[in-house]
Amino acid sequence: MPLPLRAFAASGAEASAEIPVIRRQGGEGFVSRKDCDDLRASLRGALLLSSDPGYDNARHLWNGAFDRHPAMIAKCAGAADVIQAVNFARAHDLLVAVRGGGHSFSGQSACDKGLMIDLSLMHSVHVDLVLRRARVEPGAMLGEFDREAQSFGLVTTAGAVSHTGVAGLTLGGGFGRLARRFGLACDNLRAADVVTADGRLVETSANENPDLLWGLRGGGGNFGIVTSFEYGLHPAGPIMYGGDLLFAASDARAILTQFAGFAAEAPDEMYVAGGMWTDEKLGPIVGFNICYCGRPEDGERAIAPLRTFRKPVRDRLGPTPYVRMQTDFDATYPWGWGYYERSGFIKKLTPEVRAARSRARSRRRRPSGTAIPCSRCSSRRTGTTRATAALATRACSGHARSGLHCRSSPTASM
Ligand SMILES: Cc1cc2nc3c(=O)[nH]c(=O)nc-3n(C[C@H](O)[C@H](O)[C@H](O)COP(=O)(O)OP(=O)(O)OC[C@H]3O[C@@H](n4cnc5c(N)ncnc54)[C@H](O)[C@@H]3O)c2cc1C
Repeated sequence: MPLPLRAFAASGAEASAEIPVIRRQGGEGFVSRKDCDDLRASLRGALLLSSDPGYDNARHLWNGAFDRHPAMIAKCAGAADVIQAVNFARAHDLLVAVRGGGHSFSGQSACDKGLMIDLSLMHSVHVDLVLRRARVEPGAMLGEFDREAQSFGLVTTAGAVSHTGVAGLTLGGGFGRLARRFGLACDNLRAADVVTADGRLVETSANENPDLLWGLRGGGGNFGIVTSFEYGLHPAGPIMYGGDLLFAASDARAILTQFAGFAAEAPDEMYVAGGMWTDEKLGPIVGFNICYCGRPEDGERAIAPLRTFRKPVRDRLGPTPYVRMQTDFDATYPWGWGYYERSGFIKKLTPEVRAARSRARSRRRRPSGTAIPCSRCSSRRTGTTRATAALATRACSGHARSGLHCRSSPTASM
């Protein structure tokens, strides 16, 4: 559909009086530059339009497969800014995306031609030692939260990659290395402050708006914009027993059979993430990433049976700082690559599942997670099976989509 003349004017001339936008229900429209200037003046943070320095950096998400261009980005410095942004969006009937840590697999935290409410400036973590609680702002990364709490010997469940945002993770549930012992991240959410769609700041806790708190615990970003999370903390760490244990994939069937028995009996302190992949040096492997969150000496004993499954090709288990373990997968999922993933749930590692897993493995022509260089620069993307082959002939998302640049050095925004 041809764009109205005004839109051409807006995209061509920086000083155009009107900015093209997408409405909440998908229709097209315009917002005046004067209204944007008024919003900018009302914020303690910043308002970025496409011509502003920092706009490109702010719109990028962890998943480089999504290359969206919001009409404007409100970089909020506090709850008052969030209220201003929400009221502006409502007054102009704008499409809105809310960005916490920017780690959404499906690119939900940016939108084309809407208002992106970016919370990344709000990332403070405050630990209350007496109450064993932490107040965390929604732009904080898991690594920031873990590090602050662990420096006082306290912790709560977070995810397994330290550059994931606390906000989306908690609102979606939040499973991680400590979940079997301490519950999901959302189970540990005691209170939250929320800006609702009508621009009110609402407190939630067991006593204040408990229904809303219930909804936030796993209901995603559907109930408003959380401007502060309060978590219960537990004494654990800072040293835990764990690390990587890898076996040759040729033994996969036997190892997965033994693992199914081990997992069924494992204590709540034990976290084991298993997978099959191709290691650049060791070739095809079946491997486990392990964390025992009780006493390290108990962990060594509890993990001992895993070590006897077969002779490991790599054994990097030992007493390790928990905050270090929490970065074990960071480099596997760098910021800015284009990711595509499919998944499903199984209730049990049955013989049929184990056999299917091994068959799928042997049919795979390329190793999973292979980094493929961009055809136009040195940046590398990851891909699996057929997707990898297709990627190898194409430029990276930076070159292919925006024609601007490749994000060749992945940055963890922490
Ligand atoms: C590499 C990687 C590893 C992961 N590992 C784990 C893991 O171990 N365990 C686990 O449970 N999950 C894991 N996840 C999933 C992750 O928890 C979700 O993708 C989560 O949504 C990311 O949160 P975010 O704040 O970084 O994302 P964002 O992209 O900023 O937000 C995700 C969603 O939450 C909404 N949202 C964000 N902030 C707010 C807010 N303050 N108020 C209301 N809505 C908001 C956004 O609008 C968006 O819809 C992982 C994801 C990745 C990419």
